[in-house]
Amino acid sequence: MSNSDLLQRSLAAVWHPCTQMKQHADAVAALPMVPIARGQGVWLYDFDGHRYLDGISSWWVNLFGHCNPRINAALRQQLDELEHVILAGFTHRPVIELSERLAALTGHTLGHCFYASDGASATEIALKMSFHSWHNRGRHEKQEFLCLAGGYHGETVGALAVTDVALFKDAYGPLIRPAATVPTPDARLATDGETPIDVARRAAAGLETHLEEHHARIAALIVEPLIQCASGMAMYDPEYLRLARGLCDRYEVHLICDEIAVGCGRSGTFFAHQQAGIKPDFLCLSKGISGGYLPLSIVLTTDAVYDSFYDDRLSRGFLHSHSYTGNALACRAALATLDIFADDRVIDANRLLAAQLADCLSPLADHPQVRHLRQRGMIAAFDVVSDDPQFSQRFYRQALANEILLRPIGNTVYFMPPYVISAEECAFLAARAIAALDAALSE
Ligand SMILES: *Cc1c(COP(=O)(O)O)cnc(C)c1O
Repeated sequence: MSNSDLLQRSLAAVWHPCTQMKQHADAVAALPMVPIARGQGVWLYDFDGHRYLDGISSWWVNLFGHCNPRINAALRQQLDELEHVILAGFTHRPVIELSERLAALTGHTLGHCFYASDGASATEIALKMSFHSWHNRGRHEKQEFLCLAGGYHGETVGALAVTDVALFKDAYGPLIRPAATVPTPDARLATDGETPIDVARRAAAGLETHLEEHHARIAALIVEPLIQCASGMAMYDPEYLRLARGLCDRYEVHLICDEIAVGCGRSGTFFAHQQAGIKPDFLCLSKGISGGYLPLSIVLTTDAVYDSFYDDRLSRGFLHSHSYTGNALACRAALATLDIFADDRVIDANRLLAAQLADCLSPLADHPQVRHLRQRGMIAAFDVVSDDPQFSQRFYRQALANEILLRPIGNTVYFMPPYVISAEECAFLAARAIAALDAALSE
């Protein structure tokens, strides 16, 4: 089997995500589709013997490398015990243990775990639960949601209602009942003399103005804590979360923390909202929680929300389900992932790793076409000054030619490597990214 054979078959039979398929068909040589044969640690290998360092953890999901021996072993064991069972009326050890351990990680403030298979479904669940919880408490007028400018919460029709990324949303406008959008605390919006905290306060003032007028109809505010990833790694000060939590309390609005991307250590703490010292009413997890192995998402919530559904009447229950809810293999992969966090003291170890990454990327600060070099935990990013509409494709292609997988969002190049990347691999990733940048800019 060779790359070109598989590439042609894939283009004929597989409709790839987030892709204009014609770009691949028109320019197979210019924008290659890369068939991957195997993965090992941070490396992906194709069928022609090329390798690529996975600098984006395969769309932000892979935390501990491809084919991680510890997760593999846990899954092998689980395969021989139970692959899956209906979670209505039945339960199993992996789902119980995972729920207990996640609740413990929230200090037992979010003690109830609801399961689904992907991030967008977790968003839908949090929105439905918030609305339904208010409804069960007689607050029938609370039917609307608030989201941040540039926020991303998934691409199903309900999740698009709280997503503010034109590329994903505009085509489906007529289908969507859009939420109101309040200002983003993105630190890049600082005007002369403003600090990131000033920007956070300014954005929170905008939230307050909106809540003052509309709070009676608003069920929940949904945010990506500290980093708005999908709209270009917009980073912001934790002060915003503190102020937003206070305003949500004052105006009786739920706070949903969507940590699908920033959870599981990505931001430097296990949950990003911990850096603000706040507690959300809902916490959405997915992506890294299964180590990048299997589709799994979880919505954690409070006793107050849970109790509002607990009743003799069926209709007051949360009658939501997905076929693979609480899949045993996915939960077991998540347990193995949490074991690695505990056994290897990953949050502590990542502090050193994040400093190494910053060090390797520091030459970019002086690059004439680089702006806003920024980092929080294990996410680093910079913006490229270029009016070439093809920049992101050019960079992507040059990166592959340099044996690294990086996939810019518009003019933002970002790094989200697996936590098993070595100091040497960090240096390789940074050096090759700089080479790819210069090659893309001079094309
Ligand atoms: C990726 C992502 C989602 C959607 O998750 P899917 O599994 O792709 O549906 C939702 N919210 C955030 C913050 C994300 O990064």
